[in-house]
Amino acid sequence: MAVPFVEDWDLVQTLGEGAYGEVQLAVNRKTEEAVAVKIVDMKRAADCPENIKKEICINKMLNHTNIVKFYGHRKEGNIHYLFLEYCRGGELFDRIEPDVGMPEQDAQKFFQQLIAGVEYLHGLGITHRDIKPENLLLDDRDQLKISDFGLATVFRHNGRERLLNKMCGTLPYVAPELIKMRGFHAEPVDVWSCGIVLIAMLAGELPWDQPNDMCQEYCDWKESKHYLTPWKKIDAAPLALLCKILAENPSSRITIQDIKKDRWVTKSLKKGVKRSLVPSGGSETHGLLSKHIRSDMDLSFLHSEEKVTFSSTQPEPRTALPTWDSSSSHIDKLVQGKGISFSQPACPENMLLSSQLLGTPGSSQVNYISFSPYHLCAV
Ligand code: ATP
Repeated sequence: MAVPFVEDWDLVQTLGEGAYGEVQLAVNRKTEEAVAVKIVDMKRAADCPENIKKEICINKMLNHTNIVKFYGHRKEGNIHYLFLEYCRGGELFDRIEPDVGMPEQDAQKFFQQLIAGVEYLHGLGITHRDIKPENLLLDDRDQLKISDFGLATVFRHNGRERLLNKMCGTLPYVAPELIKMRGFHAEPVDVWSCGIVLIAMLAGELPWDQPNDMCQEYCDWKESKHYLTPWKKIDAAPLALLCKILAENPSSRITIQDIKKDRWVTKSLKKGVKRSLVPSGGSETHGLLSKHIRSDMDLSFLHSEEKVTFSSTQPEPRTALPTWDSSSSHIDKLVQGKGISFSQPACPENMLLSSQLLGTPGSSQVNYISFSPYHLCAV
């Protein structure tokens, strides 16, 4: 199937499916360059039409090695097409062996890359709000890329931070304050979910369904019952880090800066060293890394829509102009896939209408964000 209105590109394979559409692999017939195309049907997303605009606007601001690159987007009728860096290695989720995890050295590398990506986002004042292994993709060299900015939002603008109050994310990965409180800081919530990802990588299971006092596994964690699963499967150094990440009080939780200095994070781990894993037995339902828990457990039924309250002098929202990230022309050389030789596009602008190429490079766009109570947009 051809990409509508775009010559020379074929949609050759479904890479994944989400709540509002699907992600397809598009390959250029002539050059064999490959991109991922996220196709969002606005008819299916009618309940939250602003989300896709926000996802596009935030994507345009981003340019980092640990974040999926955004090439541009186009809209045809009710369908939005987002053109993204193709992550050939698939989801981190699929590298996690249920009940086991992965070698500690791999987990450390992925965690370092996750923290680098999150540090970059927070530096721009953006929070992802749905960090989980399904949203962490790998390229052909197993470099981790943070993906899916459908729930991301801006928490700091012009040096002023706002508290969040919208509950969104995926329950086993959300921080306790998000369930309990109306106003909470954005950064510790992302830090918490990075910790849950680390547990998944080291133990192959999630520690609890949700972090509240109704949940026995969470109470056991608070009582430091580290002889229980998944903790008993995790070595002392990463467990010490997890104790600092999974601090219930967000103001006592370790920061990204301190995570980067942590003893385990900075430790040189020997390649191929097997961990002495103690499988849990797998009988506990919470011990499964379930993909059925989707981020559309948006939790907003519990809370009203968030209000953006930075200052009274915010500019009026303006219409988003599709843009082009000029930094993407250096991207990856040929990779092998399905017997075809794929490469990332040297000129992905070929995929976009010329009228959609009017933007400026992503790096400067942070200065142009504007806000309305329910909607963020960049020009
Ligand atoms: P959800 O409803 O889970 O939030 P979504 O509609 O927002 O999903 P994504 O999470 O962006 O869609 O993508 C769905 C899946 O498609 C991913 O989990 C992944 O498997 C695949 N996918 C997305 N983007 C890419 C990419 N750039 N390269 C390769 N695969 C991708």
